[in-house]
Amino acid sequence: MLDGALWHLTRHNPIELLRRVDLARLAACAQDPVFLERYDALIAWNGWVADTHDTWFETTYPDLAQRTIAYFCAEFGLHASVPIYSGGLGVLAGDHCKTASDLGVPLLGVGLFYIKGYSDQRLRLDGWQEDAEERFDLAATPLEPVRGPHGDPCLATVRLSGRAVSIGAWRVMVGRVPIFLLDTDHEQNDPADRQLCHRLYAGGPDLRLRQEWILGVGGVRVLRTLGYDPAVWHANEGHAAFMLVERVRELVASGASFADAVRRVRATSVFTTHTPVPAGHDTFSPEQVEQCTGPVWQEMGVRREDVFRLGHHPALDHDRFHMSVAAIRLSARVNAVSRRHGEESRRIWAPLWPDREAARVPITDITNGVHVATWMANRVVALLESHLGADWWQHVDDPAVWARMLKLDDFALWAVHDELKSHLMRSIREQARRRWADQWKEALHLVGAGTLLDHHALTIGFGRRFATYKRADLIFRDPHRLQRLLVNPWRPVQIVFAGKAHPGDEPGKQVLQRVYAHTREARFEGRIAFIEDYDMHLGHNLVQGVDLWLNLPRPPLEACGTSGMKAALNGVPQLSTLDGWWAEGYDGSNGWAIPGVPEGADADAADAEQLYRLLEDEVVPLFYTRDARDVPLGWMEKMKHALCVAGQRFSARRMLRQYVTEHYVPAIRGQLPGDDPPTA
Ligand SMILES: *Cc1c(COP(=O)(O)O)cnc(C)c1O
Repeated sequence: MLDGALWHLTRHNPIELLRRVDLARLAACAQDPVFLERYDALIAWNGWVADTHDTWFETTYPDLAQRTIAYFCAEFGLHASVPIYSGGLGVLAGDHCKTASDLGVPLLGVGLFYIKGYSDQRLRLDGWQEDAEERFDLAATPLEPVRGPHGDPCLATVRLSGRAVSIGAWRVMVGRVPIFLLDTDHEQNDPADRQLCHRLYAGGPDLRLRQEWILGVGGVRVLRTLGYDPAVWHANEGHAAFMLVERVRELVASGASFADAVRRVRATSVFTTHTPVPAGHDTFSPEQVEQCTGPVWQEMGVRREDVFRLGHHPALDHDRFHMSVAAIRLSARVNAVSRRHGEESRRIWAPLWPDREAARVPITDITNGVHVATWMANRVVALLESHLGADWWQHVDDPAVWARMLKLDDFALWAVHDELKSHLMRSIREQARRRWADQWKEALHLVGAGTLLDHHALTIGFGRRFATYKRADLIFRDPHRLQRLLVNPWRPVQIVFAGKAHPGDEPGKQVLQRVYAHTREARFEGRIAFIEDYDMHLGHNLVQGVDLWLNLPRPPLEACGTSGMKAALNGVPQLSTLDGWWAEGYDGSNGWAIPGVPEGADADAADAEQLYRLLEDEVVPLFYTRDARDVPLGWMEKMKHALCVAGQRFSARRMLRQYVTEHYVPAIRGQLPGDDPPTA
């Protein structure tokens, strides 16, 4: 209402908008009764959030509302203006915190403050990704510095490479949930240490180790300084495992034996693993750890090997300290992030329990979910309000509410989708226009940036990290067949790609470069686009505005995948291999699945063949079969089922309630799951 164009230009950043809005416009709004009414409602709602005591958690567990759950993660994806996330893990952590706030779960987050964020993606004209680094503008974010009880910005000290490093923190409130982001950029620190937390996942293993030590050890100490005494500690992915080690040290320092300390830390800790590939877990050599942290075992009253044994993987022929192994040994509750990933994880971690079959390895699974209010387009929310009544929001946990999506009016849903698609096309053109004017100058690049996209063509979206297992280039396996599919004048198809490769991932950058080159090929007639700088903001536009979401991970390497859930919440069906969440989410009505391939077959060839076949025989015909109003009725069924299934089973509310009932509450109440710690 203040300034629609500026809202768009600030990429939906309310603080930035308020800094830049015209004062005369503000004054006019202050006189506008309609504006003032909405303003008052919002302020009242904020007050209600701060004061209410009838949240789900407080009414379900009134005796536990004063306890604290500490959630540690190396990245948090909250909003595009705070670029301290690289992809799915961070966005999931952000959705976890937002939902904890919604449900009144007494959670706090601990992460790192990366002032230079994750890399900004700039592609050279030949498609090679260069990783720019820029400080993000703190004044355009809600981050605020935290002071200790005596006003001191230094909240804790850790020893790194023999030097004392002082740690401060920034706080961001996610509704009711505070997240503390640790920072070492203080004057009293050695210049080298000041940069330790500047960037996410940049630099080699030594920097990584130091960041993880700061996160784990520094995180615990900062919470102590601030007066927190968490009842449950959750390590989200192995990066946070030193948090568990530090708590063992704390207990030993206060008189417990090492064995007893390990038992007590286990009983109050939760570990979530997100990686189905052995090479995806951080490991460090004992010498490296010792060089960085010093002889920490002395403070624990044990021998060096007792500490390193915590991170020892019994089936690997090295003695490296394995972060996920340490997290498993020090957490009585361990889970994977989808049903299929649970099976994989039990298999991968079976060596820790050599006396058990894989099926009995005590690792459960809680399938990820996404925060509905973050990912569902406002236009879709408004449509649901008109269909279900303004209070449907209060019944979002009732599957029957989502079942009513199947009765949505086809014409109305199609019209909403069409508006979202047109918004996407417009923002793609705008981004291309700016880049062309600023840098490119050559017309060719306008093609690859999507200016020839056609609003009416079936539009496929592919947005995610360019890790090789995600196979962004699979669809180019047979370029002639792809060309026939795309440039059919009666039933045109187009593809929009977005995503960054990890700064150190050369093979990922090569895949990206190949995809980029295809976008400029004349034979595809401008029907393939690559949009730079994938982040949460572009992610919103994509999952809300394309017709079909494409996901091609090589099974079983996708732990869960969440972007398809975001698309589905906007009625965008998915076509995917049966990996991650799709192995349990696909039900025949809500999209398409590429079936598994027999052992020993060439999986890439088989999957590409199935992909072309599904697109040619099923997806394209269904999309282009229209009724007299030009509405694709068969397609609408897919859209409605996508929405229904995602809302019923893949929301972060469902996920968080599972964490609460299966992990947090039993841990607070001191119940042990009854499973033995690893025996190897
Ligand atoms: C949701 C999201 C991801 C994760 O997508 P996957 O499907 O899990 O690969 C990555 N990046 C951004 C910006 C996201 O919003």
